[in-house]
Amino acid sequence: MFSSEDLSFKKELNSLIDKHLPEDWQEYPDERLDSHWELSKKIKSELANKNWIAPSWPKEYGGLEEDFSKSIILSETMAYRMAPGNDRFGVRMIGPTLLKYGTEFQKKKFLNEITTGKSQWCQGYSEPNSGSDLASISTKGEYEEDSNTITINGTKVWTTLAHRANRMFILVRTQPDSTRHKGLSLILLDMNDPGIKVNPIKNISGKSSFNEVVLKNVKVSAENVVGKLHEGWMIALDLLNFERSGIDYIGWGERCLDDLVDYCYRNDLIKENHIKNKLALLRSDLESAKLMTYKALWIKEQSDEIHMEPSISKVLATETNINIHDFAFDLLNTKATFLNTKNKDSFAERVIKNRLFFVSGGILGGTTEIQKNIIAQRGLGLPR
Ligand SMILES: Cc1cc2nc3c(=O)[nH]c(=O)nc-3n(C[C@H](O)[C@H](O)[C@H](O)COP(=O)(O)OP(=O)(O)OC[C@H]3O[C@@H](n4cnc5c(N)ncnc54)[C@H](O)[C@@H]3O)c2cc1C
Repeated sequence: MFSSEDLSFKKELNSLIDKHLPEDWQEYPDERLDSHWELSKKIKSELANKNWIAPSWPKEYGGLEEDFSKSIILSETMAYRMAPGNDRFGVRMIGPTLLKYGTEFQKKKFLNEITTGKSQWCQGYSEPNSGSDLASISTKGEYEEDSNTITINGTKVWTTLAHRANRMFILVRTQPDSTRHKGLSLILLDMNDPGIKVNPIKNISGKSSFNEVVLKNVKVSAENVVGKLHEGWMIALDLLNFERSGIDYIGWGERCLDDLVDYCYRNDLIKENHIKNKLALLRSDLESAKLMTYKALWIKEQSDEIHMEPSISKVLATETNINIHDFAFDLLNTKATFLNTKNKDSFAERVIKNRLFFVSGGILGGTTEIQKNIIAQRGLGLPR
């Protein structure tokens, strides 16, 4: 499936990661920690030196115009190695959206910032009263024609990495009396603009990877609106389709499964038939989820229409990843202890922490129930 050129790219990428990641690295990237954040910046800047951050993008925006397979390898390998430094909000979400809908000014400015590793993006969609029902958002943007600016007021929530990001793409209601999906705009913000306050939120695994973001009279030029003012809904949805690939979950799941198989060999568990069978079943689930994910990414690259494949791949990949971690947890549970203790078995510690974190896979980027609705209604044409 991958060419020999793709495979040498993967080898070089792994050598680059080897150079930076400590040999016994067992941690899921947690950019809240200064040490992880520093590592993330270092890896990003090395990738940027080779124009590898977004290898398939046009050369004028810092890409290499390479086959899309290189981008797939990049995301999957970074996830497998649990390496920080992959800005999925920039590379996978707003980047392709700007390539498709952005003005020349936006592409030159923001895409080059991404490919040189100078930006970290975050996503301002969800609000305290709007999650699955995104069309109900109430953050307001008041357009003033004379100054060609928009003044934003409102609160966003669950904003991953807002505490590290210097850029945010935000969905705002710019037509005051509009309802539902009408009158919304997708706008690019500088997180250092006056009026933006970021408050961390702690999650179930003890990390603060997401935040509440309060916006008070934040002024932004209308040059930063993606597409037409008041017509951002379809663009915002299209961006979600870029987000909804299961590729990271495939990388994380495969790493856990490989380490689990290794653990079973080392501890003589592999001789037990029910364990061997379950491992084989998980491997075949993972392989089919992986192929579906490749297909979803490929379809999205080829065509502008909204398809059901990204939703199928997200459901399959997040569920398979959870199943792998659950089985690992069953086998290791005597070694896995509660959080915040010094556990001597780092694999067990990783499994328990990640299992807790991966609960979020079926929620973020649209819940599993919402993906199933999309598959049923938009994909299969079933009635509501
Ligand atoms: C770790 C993590 C990171 C996140 N990062 C970001 C981020 O960076 N930026 C951002 O904007 N958001 C982010 N989110 C928020 C995420 O997008 C929302 O949590 C998600 O869309 C669900 O919205 P909600 O939490 O309001 O739940 P609700 O929409 O209130 O849903 C509650 C439950 O009802 C179900 N439900 C709702 N509507 C339907 C329906 N029509 N049919 C069937 N079932 C339904 C849902 O599936 C869910 O089980 C993040 C969330 C998590 C967990």
